[in-house]
Amino acid sequence: MIRALLVEKDEESGQTHAEVKNISEDDLPEGEVTVAVEYSTLNYKDGLCIGPGGGLVRRYPHVPGIDFAGTVDSSNDDRYAPGDRVVLTGWRVGEAHWGGYAQKARVKADWLVPLPEGLDTRSAMAVGTAGFTAMLGVMALEAHGLAPGQGPVLVTGASGGVGSVATAILGRLGYEVAAVTGRPESADYLRDLGATQIVPREDLAETTKRPLEAETWAGCIDAVGGAMLARVLGQMKYGSSVAAVGLAGGADLPAKVVPFLLRGVNLLGIDSVMQPYDSRLAAWERIGRDLPLEKLEAMVHPATLDDLPALGADILKGRVRGRVVVDVN
Ligand code: NDP
Repeated sequence: MIRALLVEKDEESGQTHAEVKNISEDDLPEGEVTVAVEYSTLNYKDGLCIGPGGGLVRRYPHVPGIDFAGTVDSSNDDRYAPGDRVVLTGWRVGEAHWGGYAQKARVKADWLVPLPEGLDTRSAMAVGTAGFTAMLGVMALEAHGLAPGQGPVLVTGASGGVGSVATAILGRLGYEVAAVTGRPESADYLRDLGATQIVPREDLAETTKRPLEAETWAGCIDAVGGAMLARVLGQMKYGSSVAAVGLAGGADLPAKVVPFLLRGVNLLGIDSVMQPYDSRLAAWERIGRDLPLEKLEAMVHPATLDDLPALGADILKGRVRGRVVVDVN
């Protein structure tokens, strides 16, 4: 038997209910590789999939968990053999497919990445989808010319999962990091991760009629979107870039095009879900090299499968700090 967080739906009321239950290995979906999951995590999307679904879950009963790390149990694919340590993020696992909130998961071999040097399964999940996406954002900024010494790099939603890892990576790489947070009590935590400046959320929350403000930021990893992203665009330095990663503050972008036209600002879209294999591998290798593991540990909140229904509700309310690492065993 396998312990799993199973979300079931009452067809009459439309209500969903998440509970840890025993399932059989035969219940697992089709796939080439069966993984003995060791750790999973909690992301915003997991909050949606543990709860009402947010339109992401196709079929019930459902096992959420959009990322996991573990050891290959059995494989019908030449690339993986029992005992290999692997990590999975994206590909709509945990949404359209059963995910990592179970002691075993069965998936397509194409979706897996070998665990990079320098990371064990727990630290890989301390990074998780949020940290992997933060790394993709940093790599996109670098590819568009960002280098240390150009000025502060802004990280919005800094105490969240994406923001915490982005702050730690940028700090390690020698950047000045300006961390935007709505939680003043997170200031020490963010400075410990590598922030050199704390920007209160309210400083950037209000929209302004001025399409351009003082050129302040050399780059930005934006987990918030909405009015904050619109405001930030007008504060970017000439020729700099913003990596648009998230929408914690809203999906609308009430912005003017002026920063693009007069300052050559670039808005770079970051998607972690359908990212091709080669760039996944490159991002995980960079994480193994550039993310200080001791900082990572400071972000970790350990949890078990039983904790997930409550934690899922918390992340939807913006109450989770850093990275929740779920020991599924
Ligand atoms: P978290 O909930 O951990 O972090 C989001 C942070 O944003 C919060 O901790 C908070 O930081 C801040 N925040 C929350 N609500 C607001 C608000 N209304 N206005 C301004 N700031 C707010 O989520 P993650 O870090 O895991 O994910 C961040 C975003 O990135 C999400 O929207 C997620 O869906 C998206 N994402 C996108 C991916 C992709 O492939 N593009 C992959 C992974 C995530 P603080 O308290 O410090 O202000």
